[in-house]
This record gives sequence, structure tokens and C-alpha cells, in this order.
Amino acid sequence: MDILLATRNAGKRVELLELLGDLPVRILIAEEVGLSAMDVAEDSGTVAGNAALKAHAYARASGLWTLADDTGLFVAALDGAPGVDAAYYGGPDKLLAALHDVPAPRTAYFECVIVLCSPDGEAEYHAVGVCDGVITTERRGAGGFGYDSVFLPDGHDQTFAEMPHSAKNPISHRGRAVEAILPVLRAVVAQG
Ligand code: IMP
Repeated sequence: MDILLATRNAGKRVELLELLGDLPVRILIAEEVGLSAMDVAEDSGTVAGNAALKAHAYARASGLWTLADDTGLFVAALDGAPGVDAAYYGGPDKLLAALHDVPAPRTAYFECVIVLCSPDGEAEYHAVGVCDGVITTERRGAGGFGYDSVFLPDGHDQTFAEMPHSAKNPISHRGRAVEAILPVLRAVVAQG
């Protein structure tokens, strides 16, 4: 069985491939099914809605069971910004500048919603993963992607960008969302 990952974000892709590595399926990426140029408007206003938009668009275009991920970063001192629009916010440097006068702890959380969609769009399953933490005062670490270098998960002294994938995946918003969708995925795979 083939499952398509509906993302053009290389950082997410690497993590998802690792997190789904044990499934007895072939995981395909958009380029492998000729969908590299697909641009889905992420304008639903919610993380779950945006994940569903991507999952449906890629499933319809490919005719495959499709997994999509959407992630938001919600910072308390900024009333939840950048939130669902984190991709359009301006990145970690803009975030550090916006928090310049805000004392620690600058609490924040990542929320990831994974949507699994059937090829005909009739079946749609959601799973949510959240990771609580704080925003650092400077960028730390050379790994990861997006806001990883400024996000320190609670209970850890390394930012996501300082951790190897083997440390980030089990505690991250994405890792938790994948964990939650795995039983459904396994059932879908078992039915062929
Ligand atoms: P989207 O889910 O592609 O809309 O991502 C929203 C924004 O959050 C983008 O700027 C991503 O780079 C960023 N982002 C998504 N997941 C992560 C993550 O696991 N760590 C850090 N940044 C992330």
C-alpha cells in the first residue's frame, strides 16, 4: 500500500518519514507522484482546518491515502501569535524581536494536527499533538527547521534545534500527533 505525505516542507518530511518508518507501507512524497508544484491555500483559520485542506487536495490529486500535517506556534505573551499563521509570520528572528521586552518565562506551545484522508475524500481522521515550552532569548542550535532554534520544550535544557531527531520526535507536537494517528493508520493499512 502507498501513502502520500502532503508536504513540501523538507524538515517535516524527514521527521514524518522517521516517525512512520515502522509501518509496512511505502511512503511517497509529492515529487514522487508528480505533485511537487501543488500550492494549497492554507486559509481555514485553524490548524485542523488547514491540515484537512492539504490532505484533501493531495488525496484528490493523487488518488492515494494521504497524510497532511499543519502546525501552529502559540506564544502567550503575544496573545497566541504567530499561531496558525506561523508560516507567514517572519521566522524566529521576528519572534525574538517581538518578545524583546518580555521577561522569562515566555511560555508557548506547538500544536500539530495530522489528517489522514482517503483517496475519495470520504474518510477523514484527525489526531492532535501538543508540545509545551518556552521561547528562548536567542537562537540556539543548528539542527531542525522553522522555529526549532528558539523553542525550549518543558523539562529539557536543549532547544529542538540542539537535539537529535531521536530526542525531538518522541516529545514533539508532531511525534505525539503521529503516535495518536498510528492505530487508525494501522487499521487502514490492514484493510489494504
Ligand atoms: P505549517 O504547518 O507548514 O503551516 O508550518 C507553520 C510554521 O511553523 C512554519 O514556519 C514551519 O516552519 C514552522 N514549524 C512547523 N513545524 C515545526 C517544528 O516542528 N519546529 C519548528 N517549526 C515548525
